[in-house]
Amino acid sequence: MTTVRDARYDVLFEPVRIGPVTARNRFFQVPHCNGMGYRDPSALAAMRGIKAEGGWAVVASEETEIHHSSDVAPYIEGRIWDDRDIPSHLLVTKAIHAHGSLAAIELVHSGMAANNMYTRIPPMGPSHHPTSGDLYPIQARRMDKRDIADLRRWHREATVRSVEAGYDIVYVYAGHNLSTLQHFLSPRYNNRTDEYGGALENRARLLREVLEDTLEAVDGKAGVACRIVVDELIGPSGFTRAEMVELLGMIGELPDVWDFVVGAWPDDSVTSRFAGEGQREDLIRGLKDLTSKPVVGVGRFTSPDTMARLIRQGVLDFIGAARPSIADPYLPRKIEEGRIGEIRECIGCNICVSGDFTMTPIRCTQNPSMGEEWRRGWHPEVMRPRHADDRILVIGGGPAGLEAAMSAGRRGYGVVLIEETRELGGRVTKEAQLPGLAEWRRVVEYRAAQLDRMANVDCYFESSMSAGEILAYEFNHIAVATGASWRRDGVGVSRAGPIGFDDPVDVLTPDEVMSGSRPAGERVVVFDDDHYYMGSAMAELLVGEGLIVTLITPEPEVASWTQKTMEQHRIQGRLLDLGVRIVVSYTADRVTGDGLVVRCTYTGRERTIECDAAVFVTSRLPNEALALELFDLRDEWGSAGLTSVRAVGDSLSPGSVAAAVWDGHRFADDVGRSAEPIPFPRNVGAI
Ligand code: SF4
Repeated sequence: MTTVRDARYDVLFEPVRIGPVTARNRFFQVPHCNGMGYRDPSALAAMRGIKAEGGWAVVASEETEIHHSSDVAPYIEGRIWDDRDIPSHLLVTKAIHAHGSLAAIELVHSGMAANNMYTRIPPMGPSHHPTSGDLYPIQARRMDKRDIADLRRWHREATVRSVEAGYDIVYVYAGHNLSTLQHFLSPRYNNRTDEYGGALENRARLLREVLEDTLEAVDGKAGVACRIVVDELIGPSGFTRAEMVELLGMIGELPDVWDFVVGAWPDDSVTSRFAGEGQREDLIRGLKDLTSKPVVGVGRFTSPDTMARLIRQGVLDFIGAARPSIADPYLPRKIEEGRIGEIRECIGCNICVSGDFTMTPIRCTQNPSMGEEWRRGWHPEVMRPRHADDRILVIGGGPAGLEAAMSAGRRGYGVVLIEETRELGGRVTKEAQLPGLAEWRRVVEYRAAQLDRMANVDCYFESSMSAGEILAYEFNHIAVATGASWRRDGVGVSRAGPIGFDDPVDVLTPDEVMSGSRPAGERVVVFDDDHYYMGSAMAELLVGEGLIVTLITPEPEVASWTQKTMEQHRIQGRLLDLGVRIVVSYTADRVTGDGLVVRCTYTGRERTIECDAAVFVTSRLPNEALALELFDLRDEWGSAGLTSVRAVGDSLSPGSVAAAVWDGHRFADDVGRSAEPIPFPRNVGAI
């Protein structure tokens, strides 16, 4: 099918100069972590290479430590401590250059944002102050003039190594509260009385010096970018937008490109539950007028109309993206080729961020190939051709089933998808109706739109089949994607056994609430022993309907796992604002006629939370009956032409939507393979 680019988007494909180099278009993949970094260089290179292949004119590294005096262990970021790191970086730059894109490296000295748990060298910063990373009983020491000179030298040397490694753009990083240069800039950390403290000109002195050093060190062979916080969002005790305006008056012409960020990382990468596309345009708008140098900014942009508007209105010169480039590495190419309907839009769930916080390779709800480009050979757009003219049945149209059907269809198999309800999406369709989760619907919309175009995939609604009927239809491979159901018995993370019921009261599961059931009475307890989003979403839904809601969790905070998606503080804050009563560090013990008896996780002491009803958000059980029936009929598979049956996604092992999508993709990729490749691919020793 021939498609043509919409002329309204031509502006997005204009080349832009960045000092001595030229970006071929305005799509700029800004630095983002990935949980692979220095540990998995081959995987990292493959991931970045696919971004370049997908049309991003600039592809940047994650933050990259310039020296061992500042290490962010246990987090896995980049390292360019000395020449021994250059070969790993060459892998990355070659992969990016192979597709005509510019490679950028974000150099960082993390200072008081690093605990140096690997090198054990005392951290340092502008002033004596506890480190701002994970809580650890250590303080950063105040840097003296010699330390400042050392830092400048380390940054220069890292710049020279970066150019040798093939980078076209070298970043000077002063953002996200993660960089010594920002710590000097910010009055909250800088209480020096020498020429590096006090007035803005002094606090900005080190940033100016490092920018000048970097420009000299690249020697005209690379552009220099400055990534800087435009407002720390903490008022006058921090660096403010007014100071940013003043700063641009001082050094606005120094770097070759500005990359503006807002607040700390959780402020810059807010989940869709709390912010939509372009959420902080107000803080970026107008800054471009204060410099002649091009400007990059982010806002989880997935709409080409928004992108074109930002360029036309002079807000930005480059469309910066981390998450949209993760969800769809081919986003620029799809716009360029007029394939707007094929864009896989980021849903703003921040599962990608959890890879950094768990120090594991990046993953993405929308893009199952993210982080798997090298070790599994997955590509976001291309599947291996089918191995034979086999027919595949997918049972269930939730996230795993949709991905399985779409990806198997892309391989060229004949696929039948049967769904027992009238619509696709399974749990995602239901969960997207919970407060704040509407964008999650994109998981369904993208896949449903692709399936619509596939002549080799047929979808049947309000359909179900028994195991015997399935065998009669002579499919060769079957994916059972029947999902999972929330438990009513209270078994969850903190409880291996069921919650006691001394007296039957109204207990509901999230499935029942999402299907429209409501608790009896006005006082409802939500017991969250799942610790991701569902417990807080239930509480938010019910309090919004006028019920008196108490949320109880065995953890010391609400939705504790959402620390890894950087939204825990927002979730707890919203529940408090809405009037939800929060009881932490208590686990449910039994239900009585008076309410829920809970036990302190520290002392074991009991108390009763009076309520009329309870919603248990604890764990789920796979809907595995059909898969087990099919396994029981294994002796009949041969005569029915059936080769393989797999339970996929939640019906195998309930987990996140991302895990379900990934498993659906794995099913489609595995069809025709004999076994998992052994040994499992990983970078061992040499690259
Ligand atoms: Fe977007 Fe979620 Fe993918 Fe991250 S994991 S890129 S937030 S869809």
